[in-house]
Amino acid sequence: MREKLTKDLIMLADACKEPLYLVGGSVRDYLAGTLSEKPDWDLASPMCEDDFLAAAEKIGFDVRAVYPATGTVKLKDSEGAEYEFTRFRSDTYVRGMHAPAGTEFTRDILKDAVRRDFCANAVYYDVKAGEFVDPLGGIKDIQTHTLRTVAPAKKVFGEDGLRLMRLARIAAETGFAPDKECLEGAKENALLIRDIVPERIFQELSRILHSDEKAGGKDGPYRGLSLLRETGVLKEIAPELALGDGMDQRKDFHRYDVLEHSLRCVRYSAPDIRFAALLHDVGKPYCFLRDGNFHAHPEEGARIAAEMLTRWKAPKKLIEETGELVLLHMRDFDLKMRESKVRRELVLHYPLLEKLFELKQADFSACRDDLSPAPTVVKWKEILEKMKEEGAPLTLAELAVNGKDALSSGIPPHDVGNALHLLLFDCALGMAKNERAVLLKRLTKLSEKYTK
Ligand code: ATP
Ligand code: MG
Repeated sequence: MREKLTKDLIMLADACKEPLYLVGGSVRDYLAGTLSEKPDWDLASPMCEDDFLAAAEKIGFDVRAVYPATGTVKLKDSEGAEYEFTRFRSDTYVRGMHAPAGTEFTRDILKDAVRRDFCANAVYYDVKAGEFVDPLGGIKDIQTHTLRTVAPAKKVFGEDGLRLMRLARIAAETGFAPDKECLEGAKENALLIRDIVPERIFQELSRILHSDEKAGGKDGPYRGLSLLRETGVLKEIAPELALGDGMDQRKDFHRYDVLEHSLRCVRYSAPDIRFAALLHDVGKPYCFLRDGNFHAHPEEGARIAAEMLTRWKAPKKLIEETGELVLLHMRDFDLKMRESKVRRELVLHYPLLEKLFELKQADFSACRDDLSPAPTVVKWKEILEKMKEEGAPLTLAELAVNGKDALSSGIPPHDVGNALHLLLFDCALGMAKNERAVLLKRLTKLSEKYTK
């Protein structure tokens, strides 16, 4: 493993008076053959954090934070690699709460190992000696791609609800699967996810949705979400979505129930629309229970998706964009929309079009695992191409007149945006050419209407 380590880390281990170990993700992924280019390096040692700090400062590490209560130090080296050191310790918990209620430092590596979550995350690599230390048999688990808890699973999950999310996320990123006992322990403690702050839930969920970016994460988003469903955690963090479990849909379109379809939509989606893919049909259970049908599901779904993301404290931009994509995902699904209307839609939603096409494609593929092009996307792309060939402007910036022209043509200031959009639609529909003289004339005419 030494050849994968940074020079600074090797120097640091040499400068320490006691053994310095790597542990956690970097060791696990190295042994699985999936170590990333820039891993986060988790360090552990029996030495106290002050001795460690003295060595780190001598080598020239940038100390970012020190938490004496847990013996934790965060560092960066000269090349920007990140490290987190924790002194060997053993923790006690109040049931479910993520932060330990009590911490006791120890020199015993076994005690440090059993305060962790999975045996695969409790393999140590002694940097100076160049040797692996494996107090709980984690190497075998890594070889068999197994997630086994460091102590009885009921206890491990019962102490810290975040471990329920970590289980799904690590399974998603590594391709490992929980053994039977681990799965049962997670199921029994699923309710403890209620004690975890929304920011952490969102962080872990985001990592699950992007787990296929990791070397071990093939089909990770789908596997991770399925595990959240299986353990019962999904029902707790996203009850609106879980209501779709077992909810039948029209058999002529759909092979799967509403929830399974949503998970498959994530599976078939591009990385930049994963939340929209997960939540695109979240309005269906709500509408079915209220109306007995799914008709209003894009509108209700947009509202519910925004509510969920707000609850998870997601970034504002993601909330807005996801809401809009959910709202639009069914547009022209039956291919009955007239071309003139499609042209208006294309212009109106131009900034989001690529993502909307991606979502429509994923939604289509997820109905019956059909990877052929989605008919609505084919139709809308053809019309878009035609508009481009005609030279139709697709955004206000491409219009041959601007806000200043509108004002000097007599459009009242508060109607300028409206007037320019009308011109944009006229051009999109082929009712006007995108030429300055033509559009100035139309603006003058419009101003008469506005000022009447
Ligand atoms: P990655 O770095 O790929 O995200 P990781 O397993 O290294 O995965 P970290 O959050 O970096 O995860 O944590 C480092 C190690 O600390 C873990 O491997 C595990 O041994 C331990 N650990 C982290 N969080 C917990 C937790 N909530 N409960 C128990 N042990 C934990
Ligand atoms: Mg780590």
